[in-house]
Amino acid sequence: MPLPATIALCILGVIVILGTICTIRAIKIKKKLPNVKSAVSWTKEEEDKYASLLSEMVKIPTVSKKQEEEYPDFIVFQDKLKELFPLFFAKAENHDVDGNILRKLPGTKPERGALLLMGHQDVVPAEGQTGWTVPPFGGVIKDGCVWGRGAMDCKSTVCCELEAVEELLKEGFDFREDLWFFSARNEENSGGGSDAAAEYLKNRGIRLNVVLDEGGAVIGGVFPKLEAPCSAIGVVEKGFVNLKFTAKGAGGHASTPPKNTPIARLSMFISEVEKKGVFEKKLVSPVPEMFTAIAPYLPLYFRVPLGNLWLYKGLLKRVLPLFSPMAGAFISTTAAFTVSGGSEAPNVLPDSAYVICNMRPSVHQNADKSIAAIKKIADKYDVETEVLYKKDASKTTDTNSREFAFLTKCISECLPDTVVTPYLMTGGTDSRRFEIVCDNVLRFTPTRLTPEQLAAMHAANENIGIPALAEGVKTYKYYIQKYNA
Ligand SMILES: [Zn+2]
Repeated sequence: MPLPATIALCILGVIVILGTICTIRAIKIKKKLPNVKSAVSWTKEEEDKYASLLSEMVKIPTVSKKQEEEYPDFIVFQDKLKELFPLFFAKAENHDVDGNILRKLPGTKPERGALLLMGHQDVVPAEGQTGWTVPPFGGVIKDGCVWGRGAMDCKSTVCCELEAVEELLKEGFDFREDLWFFSARNEENSGGGSDAAAEYLKNRGIRLNVVLDEGGAVIGGVFPKLEAPCSAIGVVEKGFVNLKFTAKGAGGHASTPPKNTPIARLSMFISEVEKKGVFEKKLVSPVPEMFTAIAPYLPLYFRVPLGNLWLYKGLLKRVLPLFSPMAGAFISTTAAFTVSGGSEAPNVLPDSAYVICNMRPSVHQNADKSIAAIKKIADKYDVETEVLYKKDASKTTDTNSREFAFLTKCISECLPDTVVTPYLMTGGTDSRRFEIVCDNVLRFTPTRLTPEQLAAMHAANENIGIPALAEGVKTYKYYIQKYNA
């Protein structure tokens, strides 16, 4: 037999063997979610109460303020919290950090360590947003939901956390670990409240076992053909970079334009960045863990590649960006051109034009490396690069840690119809600041959100379902109870 035919047969044999191994493995990992009752339940009266608590919170327009600005609305809001959750605020030590709530409920066995629950008080503005069908700060309750700015992001988190603790206090629960609560008044504008609070703890030598913040939630439709909702626990946040790209030229009258004007060069530069894919694509933790978690619940044709990452990583790197922008963002740095400027008049050539680019560096290609990669393209078109702001990705919380496993177990018991998975956050929270006092920063609110509700975050008609709110309160309560057992 001639050699090429032997080689071809060998290759075919290897393909058949690998295909068979992958298919057998994919068949074996198939799972169904257990058909068991949730460990938590609640009454209609409780639902009404929780809706009214959140509604009261939404009515106070706590729009983000810089750390140095006056914050009268936040003082009103904090007084309201004391009224709504009286036991917690009476019993918890006050460690207020410049208008950012930091409280400690001392445990009876503080040597066991401490946990911190957090969620921000501030909200993004609603002014100028068309499409609101309810007053943004009306705290309207209708159609089984609480509506208004902050109803989801993130007053619902604060409401669920505080009400869970309040109910436990009312029941005379024995808090063994110290329980800290933190709520920034400037998370939405990165105003520094969380830095100050984390430093405050660090300076007092306080270490935390776990930090639980907003970030992930219970979301449906995250992957094609995955029928169950995902309880996505954020274990890492991508970095954040703002760059200004400037192209210069001679200016002049628009009636006699030369070639390669500043705007033309900027356009070619942007086009190359978009088309060529400047950044390195790689599947790094927690993305493989995410696929491993959801694979058993997918049809066979998805289970084969996702359940055999050892073989299909290379292929997935290529096809993931075709699925959705979110899937693409999981495996590489992203760059979005968001602001631009040039000449002041339609008939004047600019002597200088600029665009601003917001990048989210990946874990494997940090801010400096991502900037270097895009700058290389900018240089080609004689475009200058200026770094306005840069921050690397956060640390990645170990998904093999006791804290991750414990939270996963509690979620599986309270929300047994959901697939629990670690999750790479493409956006940011202020919990990463607490990395200096904690190794286990986890971002998850146990509330169910529809894709429409998710899309309303920072947009018009933000809302949250009242049963989701009740499930959130009871799940936090369950978690704290089990944690202190
Ligand atoms: Zn938020």
